[in-house]
This record gives sequence, structure tokens and C-alpha cells, in this order.
Amino acid sequence: QIDFIQAIQLEGNKEQSEEQISEYQKQRMNIEETKKSLPVYPFREDLIKAIKDHQILIVEGETGSGKTTQIPQYLHEAGFTVDSKKIGCTQPRRVAAMSVAARVAQEMNVKLGNEVGYSIRFEDCTSDRTIIKYMTDGTLHREFLSEPDLASYSVMIIDEAHERTLHTDILFGLVKDIARFRPDLKLLISSATLDAQKFSSFFDDAPIFRIPGRRFPVDIYYTKAPEADYVDASVVSILQIHATQPLGDILVFLTGQEEIETCVEMLQDRAKRLGKKIKELIILPVYANLPSDMQAKIFDPTPPGARKVVLATNIAETSLTIDNIIYVIDPGFAKQNNFNSRTGMESLMVVPISKASANQRAGRAGRVAPGKCFRLYTAWAYKYELEDNSVPEIQRINLGNAVLILKALGINDLIHFDFLDPPPHETLILALEQLYALGALNHHGELTKTGRRMAEFPADPMLAKMLLAGEKYKCSEEIVTIAAMLSVNSSVFYRPKDKIIHADTARKNFFHPSGDHLTLMNVYNQWADTDHSVQWCYENFIQYRSMKRARDVREQLMGLMERVEIEMVSSIHEDVNIRKAITAGYFYHIAKFSKGGHYKTAKHNQTVMIHPNSALFEELPRWVLYHELVFTSKEFMRQVTEIESKWLLEVAPHYYKSKELEDSTNKKMPKKIGKIGGE
Ligand code: ADP
Ligand code: MG
Repeated sequence: QIDFIQAIQLEGNKEQSEEQISEYQKQRMNIEETKKSLPVYPFREDLIKAIKDHQILIVEGETGSGKTTQIPQYLHEAGFTVDSKKIGCTQPRRVAAMSVAARVAQEMNVKLGNEVGYSIRFEDCTSDRTIIKYMTDGTLHREFLSEPDLASYSVMIIDEAHERTLHTDILFGLVKDIARFRPDLKLLISSATLDAQKFSSFFDDAPIFRIPGRRFPVDIYYTKAPEADYVDASVVSILQIHATQPLGDILVFLTGQEEIETCVEMLQDRAKRLGKKIKELIILPVYANLPSDMQAKIFDPTPPGARKVVLATNIAETSLTIDNIIYVIDPGFAKQNNFNSRTGMESLMVVPISKASANQRAGRAGRVAPGKCFRLYTAWAYKYELEDNSVPEIQRINLGNAVLILKALGINDLIHFDFLDPPPHETLILALEQLYALGALNHHGELTKTGRRMAEFPADPMLAKMLLAGEKYKCSEEIVTIAAMLSVNSSVFYRPKDKIIHADTARKNFFHPSGDHLTLMNVYNQWADTDHSVQWCYENFIQYRSMKRARDVREQLMGLMERVEIEMVSSIHEDVNIRKAITAGYFYHIAKFSKGGHYKTAKHNQTVMIHPNSALFEELPRWVLYHELVFTSKEFMRQVTEIESKWLLEVAPHYYKSKELEDSTNKKMPKKIGKIGGE
């Protein structure tokens, strides 16, 4: 039992509710009716007129009002796709691009990938016939490389502008520039709320088109005391709502796949124990790596008498609208990428959300009827601990990738690039330095041939460099496999709570003595040897869908390797070569054994540790390379491989001096010295 106290009521219009509840009760409306019921519908003619009258328009409207799914269709109907010109619409999130494209294809009654399609990293679901194209903001960046004037588009919509992702922020500058010499191109900047005025000023006072929102009152409840374990508290709250509150679906905001999976298991388990006493509870997860058929399920109408609970990342905050949500549970956290420009360290961590996010989340409960939002934090914490707004990504993450693309687009003077909010000077300098160290820029800051080749890969510059190094070390086959496996995150190994021992034993069978990169390669190669068997994955506690995705990514990467004219060659038994190639990309991510199970990063002496899931967790070699840092209770290195320090002088002589690497005997430490506890 969790004690909630009710504090305030979010603004909303009580009078509308009665009329709307009956609408909510009509469970199934056909598509035409649904379209007509969206808040944007009555404005379609005015909107089209405004677009015809102005080259750039800022569109502002409450989440779920139909901006993303409807506006491209209105534009199509108004003739913006004649001469097979396209309407483009960017999304900060992969899942949103896919899901929205699927919905619009369905509304227009066409096959996804034909007239309506989407394009995301490593997956292009469009064709010559595509006239409405959804894509991630990162994908549009890459399109600038092949089509700098966006000639094939008549309209470009930069959607979810309020999310302020790095890619979206840079797109603002790029599209603003293009609009000047392509007067026929229409630009729409669309956002949920709040920032419209700022966008308008940036785009030379472009007019703002406001779609009046429709929102019902939402009662906000806070916990009396802070919750120690918000996943557990979420489960308790879900069951509490289920047992005591009238029917209506629940949306819970968690921070990532692992947490969501844990929550699903706990919930299934506890709901089972309640047996037949409770009504049916349909549990549905949503996160970026969830396959699209499972994602689509969240939109299926809830059967009468049952309740749906959607466990989502903050993708459901504004990008995706799930109808009929009445209850929201908000633990108050999100995963965020952070970059420390002083140490050059990038790290994924779970951080408190902003007040603006908390209000967005609460608002999800009041879209179709009056709702309730349960915040798993205190009213005091809301008032005094949450920031008003999140810091835009451009001011807090590594800019390497963005700088590489801008350089590849011929934009050399980054200091004077037209940013909505400029990145910190140090971060920009660090990105330039890093690209220089990777050989992507020369000492004038100009793109080198290596840099040009690196820019072909839709990947972090370090990963791109690693891929190129596969050529030099004659192991392109292996490197492509490793890159593909890294890109499906850590979700390859399946660890169900009730079979953890079996799962961990299975995982250990794949361990390569040198560490996780080659372990991942082992997994892939063994799977490929079984002809990509599902059964094999099942028996070995491997996530089949992650593997399938790795296979798709691998195919894409092979295509890109061909583009930069790298032959596919294999040195499967030369693991030193493979590890050198990895080091050639990741020499920034090096740590040296220190003491008590701790490591220190090579350049900045920061304390880090090997993640308990790593193949090297009990080995503790002297020098290691890591793929990423994840901050939970401590800074953990994830995907770790043992290296020899002298390789650093070979792959990055301009970055490392032999003096820094002294004491590189490279002997292994005795096993289990100062082994640390779990995460
Ligand atoms: P906005 O962009 O203004 O936030 P959207 O265009 O995303 O609004 O959403 C409009 C409506 O379309 C919502 O009611 C939403 O539930 C519905 N919708 C969006 N995607 C899907 C989908 N894949 N399946 C079913 N309905 C969807
Ligand atoms: Mg939208």
C-alpha cells in the first residue's frame, strides 16, 4: 500500500468532460470518425492557407491533437505532393517514426513503405512511390549529405521540436539556411507547447499557428515520503489502482528496457497471485528496441471489462499518444546521456525529470476524460528538486557526431553556425580535438579523406573509425559483426528473474578471455552457424529479436563498407588484430587497473569499474578499453576488452605518449583481488 496525498489539480476544462466521456465510451470509432475527432481537424483549411501564405510556420498544439499524423495528409490532399515531391516529417525517436508511419499508411489505406514510409538508422522502409516520409532527425542529417538542397521535398516538417534533441537543434540551422535559397520549400516547425515563441524568433519571426488543445482536468497525487525503489512502488501503485479505481487504462513511465522488463515480470507475478479476485490486466511494454509488431499492440483497443497497463519509456511523454489513458504513474526519472566537457567522459544515467516533463506526463491522463496522475515523489521534491525545463541535448552531450556531419556538409566555421542555443565552447573544442585525434580532421580543422569515409557511417565517430580500422587490420568481417552487436545494446543476453543462474551459465559459455567485444562476436558467429536459429537462441538464453536486428544492422554496415571501398576479409583467429582495430576507434575509452577493483581512466584519472555482467568482471586485466560508461550506483564500464598499452602508441601516437603508459607490464592481476559487489 502506498500512501498518496492529493495536492493540486492540473488545469483543464470541466465542462467538456461529460460530452467527451460518452465519446470515450464509444470504444471503436472508424478511422474517418477518429480523424474528424482530432483537435487539428477543424483547422485544416486555415492551416493549409497559412502554409501557402508563409514559407515558414511554427505549429503549436497539445500532444495528441493530430499534428504528426494529420498534417502531412492534409498537405498531400492540398496538392503538395504533385510532381512526386515528398512531404518529410522528422521525429526525434525511431519508434515514433515507425509507429506514426504505420498509422498514417493505415489511415490512407496504403501499404507501409509505398506511398507512406519511414527511414531510420539502418532501416529504410520507403520506395520510389513514397510521398509522405517519416524519418528520424538523424536520418535527415544524413540526407543532407546526399541531397544538400532537399530538392525532392516540397515540405519539411521538423516535428517534436520541443524535444530539443541534438539532431533537431542542428536541423533548425540547416533548414533555415536552405529556406533562403529554396523559396518553394515550405517549412513547418511543430511542437507540443511552450517553446513556440522562441522558435518563431529564431526563424525570423515566423508566424505561430496554434491548435487549441483539449484537455480534461487531471488530479495529481504525491507520495507522502520518497520511494526507495520506484519500480517496486510502480507495481504496487498499478495493483492499487487496478483494485480500487474504475476501469480506464494506466500509463507508467520507466527509464529503459531492463527496468520495464523487470516491472513486467514483477507485475505478472503479483497479479497471478491475486488470482481471479481481480479483473483482467493486460500488460504492455514499449521501448525503442521492442519489435514493431509488439509496439503496435499498445494501440489495440482494450477489451470490455479489462484494463490495459502500458509500461513505457519517455517515448510516451509526447512522441506517442495512446488513447484512453486515464491513470498515469510517474516515478519522476528518465535516462539521459550526459557529457562532461572537463573530463571528456560521456555517460548514460538515470536523472530526475523536469517540471515541464512531469506536467507533460500528467497531461497524458487527461486526453479523453478526467484523469489521475500518481507521482511517486513528494510534493516538496516536485517544488524544490525538479528543474523547470530539461537542458537541451546540445548543451550536455558529446558533439563528435554532429561536428563530423557538419564538416562533411562543408560547414567549417562551427563557432558561428546559427544555433538556437549554442553549445558550450569547450564541448565544441573537445569534439574538434577528438575528431582530430581520430584522424577525421587535419590540423586546419578540415575534413580528411578518413573523415569523409567516417561520415558515411551513421554512427558515432569512434565506431566509424573502428570500422575503417578493420581494413588495416584485415578483419573487416569481424569488426562489422562486433559493430552490429554493439549497436543492439546490451540486450543480447536474456536474463529472466526466475532463471538467472541458468541464464548466467549460458552466458559464460560464450565468454572470450579477452572480453566482451569478442564474446559478442562469438554469440553472433555461433548463431550464424545454426542458420540463425530461433531454437538455438532459446536454448542459450539469447534474445532472438536482438540478434535479428544485429543481422539487419550488419547487412547495412556491409553495404556501407562497400561504399567506402573496404573489402570484407576475415582474420577470425587473429584476436589481437581484431582488438587493435577496436582500439583504433576507442582509444579515448581506456582505463587502467588501479586498486580495490577500481579502474582509472587513462587521461583524466576518473574512477570507473567493470560492469558485473562483463566477461572481465572477475579478471581485472591491467589495461582495458570500454564501449560505454553507465552510471547507476557507480560509473560502470560496459562492453570491456583487455588491451595492451603499447597498442595505444600504434593506433593513436598523436594522442598517447609512452610516458603516460608506463608500467604496462600487462600481466593479469590475481583473480578476484578486491572484487566488488554487484551493481
Ligand atoms: P500529435 O502529433 O499532435 O501529438 P498524433 O498525430 O501523434 O498527435 O496523434 C493523433 C492520434 O492518432 C492520437 O489519437 C493517437 O492515439 C493516434 N495514433 C497515433 N499513432 C497511432 C497508431 N499507430 N495506432 C493507432 N492510433 C494512433
Ligand atoms: Mg506528434
